[in-house]
Amino acid sequence: MSRWWLQGFAFVFCGAFMSLAAASTDEPVANVVLAVHGGTGLDKVDMTPELSAKLRAVLKEALQAGERRLKEPGATALDGVEVAIRILEDSPLLNAGRGAVFTHEGRNELDASIMDGKTKKAGAVAGVTVVKNPISAARAVMEQSKHVMMIGRGAEVFATQKGLEIVDPAYFWTEGRWKDIQNVWEAEKNKRSEVDAPADRRHTQYGTVGAIARDTAGNLAAGTSTGGMTNKMFGRVGDSPIIGAGTYADNDGAAVSCTGHGEYFIRYSVSHEIVAQVKYKKSSVKDAADDVINRQLKSAGGEGAAIVLSPAGEYAAAYNSEGLYRGWVTASGEIVVKLYED
Ligand code: ASP
Repeated sequence: MSRWWLQGFAFVFCGAFMSLAAASTDEPVANVVLAVHGGTGLDKVDMTPELSAKLRAVLKEALQAGERRLKEPGATALDGVEVAIRILEDSPLLNAGRGAVFTHEGRNELDASIMDGKTKKAGAVAGVTVVKNPISAARAVMEQSKHVMMIGRGAEVFATQKGLEIVDPAYFWTEGRWKDIQNVWEAEKNKRSEVDAPADRRHTQYGTVGAIARDTAGNLAAGTSTGGMTNKMFGRVGDSPIIGAGTYADNDGAAVSCTGHGEYFIRYSVSHEIVAQVKYKKSSVKDAADDVINRQLKSAGGEGAAIVLSPAGEYAAAYNSEGLYRGWVTASGEIVVKLYED
C-alpha cells in the first residue's frame, strides 16, 4: 500500500471514529408544542462562550416566535414551523438561508422542505440561489402549485411569481463559511485533487436548521432548511428537501426533522423510518429516534441527528455526533435550549 493510501485511510478512519464515537438520546419531554434544531454543529472543543450565547439566543428567538404564532387564532403547526425556521434562516450563524455553506465552486445553493402531518401534503425546493427564505418557497410549492418539489431556476421563478423575497446571491456570503471553503480548498490541494476529497471534520459540521410543531387542533408539521454540505458539488441535493429523508410528518406517527450527512439520510429514509417505527411498531419517539440514528445510521458511518414530536406532544432527539443545537417549548411556555448533552 502506498504512503498516500495509508495517510488517506488513517485520515478517514480516525475522522469517522472520532465523529461517530458519540450516541446520545435526550430523555423524552412531555407536552411540547414546538422544537427546533440548528444542526450538529461544532465539536465542543471549538465552541466559545460568545458563540454559545449567540446560538442559544437565536434558538430561543425562533422558539418564542414560533410559539407566539401557534397561539394566534387559527394558526396551524405549519405556521409555527415556518415562522421558527425563517428566524433560523436569517441568522448568519446557521447553515441555512444567510449563513449557508459554499459549494465546491464557491456558491450557495439552498434546499428546504415542509410537510403537513394532517393532509400529508408536502413542498420542497432544491438548489435555489436567490430566495431569501427557502422554507417559505417550499410552503408555496406545497400550497400554491400542483407539485411537491421544484429545483433551481424553475423554483426561483415560481418563488418570484408568488411574491417571495428575492435577494442577490451575495446576501448569503458570510465570512466564516467563506473561510471554511477556503480551508477545504487548501486541504484538498495538499491531500488530493478529487472534488469529493474528505474535508477536515471541522469544516463539514452539519448546521442545517429544522422545526417540528403541534397545533391546538393536535396536527403535526415538520420542516427543514439547509445550505447543504461544505464543498458539495454544484447540483448536489442532500436529504433536507427530500420528503421521507430529512423531513416527514404524519399525524398518525410523528413529525421529524433531521440534520447530518445527507447521503446517508437519503439512503436510510431516516425521517420516514422513524415515523414508521412510531406508527406501526408502536415505538416511543425516543426509541424510534435512538434506533435509527444511534444504531442503524451509526453502524453505517452516517453522522447526524433527528428531532421527533408525537401527536400527544412527546418530544425526543437523538444524535450520534458530539452535539446537537436544539431547543423546545412546552404548552405552558417553558423553553429549554441545549447545544451538547447539557
Ligand atoms: N443534511 C444536510 C445535507 O446533507 C446537511 C446538514 O444537515 O447540515 O445537505
